[in-house]
Amino acid sequence: MMKNKILYGLIIFAISVILGACSEEEGIDTSISVISVEQGKANDFDKYLNHILVKPYNIRFLYKFEDVESDLNYQLVPAVYENSIRMANLVKYLCLDAYEEVAPDNFLEAYFPKMMMMVGSGAYRNNGTVVLGTAEGGLKITLYDINNLDVTDIDRLYEFYFRTIFHEFSHILHQTKDYTTDFDRISATEYVGGSWNDAWEDKSSLEAGFISDYSSKEADEDFVELIAHYITNTPEVWEEKMVAAAKDGAKGRAVIEAKMAIVSSYLSQSWDIDIDELRAAIQKRADELDEQDLDNIKIEE
Ligand SMILES: [Zn+2]
Repeated sequence: MMKNKILYGLIIFAISVILGACSEEEGIDTSISVISVEQGKANDFDKYLNHILVKPYNIRFLYKFEDVESDLNYQLVPAVYENSIRMANLVKYLCLDAYEEVAPDNFLEAYFPKMMMMVGSGAYRNNGTVVLGTAEGGLKITLYDINNLDVTDIDRLYEFYFRTIFHEFSHILHQTKDYTTDFDRISATEYVGGSWNDAWEDKSSLEAGFISDYSSKEADEDFVELIAHYITNTPEVWEEKMVAAAKDGAKGRAVIEAKMAIVSSYLSQSWDIDIDELRAAIQKRADELDEQDLDNIKIEE
């Protein structure tokens, strides 16, 4: 009798656990209670992150699913551990170390976003577009689609991750020190706001003087898109884009170059950064990417 009661109790307990698990599965934070046992125990990757990102820059690199502050608009999948390691090494190699080469002391410590969050899946909107990255108040950058990371495809690395990082970081810079309103005036009558996504279906944003469709949203986006695209293109590819922007006498090239002149002098005067040197540093690193051990989490003393 006693045994039956215990058994009965166990069955009830088991059912409630299963029910609990099921009801949580609809949400996104299903693994919190499972993984939290491990919380506080730093693994080798955590120690490595502490060494390359936390200690020097106070940047927290969030890759565990429990760290993922979920967005209920999307079904998100956690980032694969190995890809998180590669992305951490890439962020240091292709971004932080490139700025270190050309920026003044303490520039990254003071201004680089303090949190980077990795999400395995993409975040698809109802209209079919995918969110490549987001940033909140300059504090946290979220990178999606980490599970499709391909370290041999530099164009994809730029498109899916690094342009996002450079874009969001550049927002912090202009929010800290304003650029001149001369910039806003150049394309003032042509920004399309929220309809940037369908405004260019049968005409070229490039020929209109925008480096990307998203550039046409508003001046701030235009400003940071110019930085992000300029430094992630070789001088040769940039020139090809400028030629395309001037196709059949289109004004695109002249407009973009007028805006770039302001971007360039802003970075130089406000931040003591030469954008051509920054681009050269990034491009050289991209060229030598295949020589890097992106799986490394050993701390070199
Ligand atoms: Zn933006």
